[in-house]
Amino acid sequence: MTRTAAFLGLGAMGGPMAAHVVRHRQAQGGRALVWNRTRSKAEAHAAEFGGEAVDLAGVAGADVIFTCLPTSAEVDGVMDALIGDLREGATWVDCTSGHPEAARRQSARLSERGVAFLDAPVSGGPWGAEAGKLTVMVGGDAGVLERVRGDLAFAGRVVHMGEVGAGFAVKAVNNTLMAVNMWAAGEGLAALARTGVDLRAALDVINASSGRSYPTESLIGQRVLTREFPVTFTLGLLAKDTGIAADVVREAGASAPVLTQTAALVRAAATTVGAGADYSAMLRLVEQMNGRELR
Ligand code: NDP
Repeated sequence: MTRTAAFLGLGAMGGPMAAHVVRHRQAQGGRALVWNRTRSKAEAHAAEFGGEAVDLAGVAGADVIFTCLPTSAEVDGVMDALIGDLREGATWVDCTSGHPEAARRQSARLSERGVAFLDAPVSGGPWGAEAGKLTVMVGGDAGVLERVRGDLAFAGRVVHMGEVGAGFAVKAVNNTLMAVNMWAAGEGLAALARTGVDLRAALDVINASSGRSYPTESLIGQRVLTREFPVTFTLGLLAKDTGIAADVVREAGASAPVLTQTAALVRAAATTVGAGADYSAMLRLVEQMNGRELR
């Protein structure tokens, strides 16, 4: 069956994800539409990968609509514009790291129009997106997921997490665990810096020992000690994710002081260091608190 896929939001993640969707749709004989708020990016994407750059109204008739926008608020914005013209039987797959409550509301709203909704946030970063190896955590109806599974051409792994919103909840908790590890490692290294220990040597030992984590192995040595802080994922987006996790904790009636405290620390870092900085730059706040640079 030929069908039309549309991808909305061609940022650091959406751009390379959309390229896979375009290639897959072309191989299947359907149409692939790309839209971006800044239209020149959609035109450049279409010229490079072969999809069709369209106006927002042009995606309304698609069978599968992907979104990958900063937050659920921007998804609301494009949904407001499209809702009256969507095709009955279509599926909206939101790859934004969104809010579970928004997912439930958006799903209900779309269902009144005969459109299915899946929350399908991703992990793996821009490199995983380019390689087509993202992990996709999906909330929503399992039968709907089966209908669109082939269209998730950017995925290395697709895992059904539960009802609508479950994918967003898992994504937020995952990113908060990363933030917990990064913050804690930063505190430990700042204390060691104050005692005069060489931080490269300390990091080498930690990475060969039980204190290691993704931030110690893949972020702090490469981004913080080098003072490069290259922007691949912004601190503002991480603060949004940890805030969502704090909401999940509260709504679940859970006790998770470390997660909620970390959400507050990441928010403070985004405010003091800058929301547009790389997420590794949250350790600049730890540096300020300790009067030492991690280098
Ligand atoms: P980017 O900032 O790189 O891209 C954001 C995209 O959203 C751009 O296409 C931008 O358009 C568009 N956009 C922004 N505001 C609006 C708006 N009001 N209306 C319509 N479109 C808008 O973000 P990322 O690609 O990094 O992140 C996207 C999502 O993926 C986020 O939810 C993030 O948390 C998540 N994520 C990010 C990862 C990463 O490593 N970067 C990893 C995994 C998940 P324009 O070009 O016009 O600015």
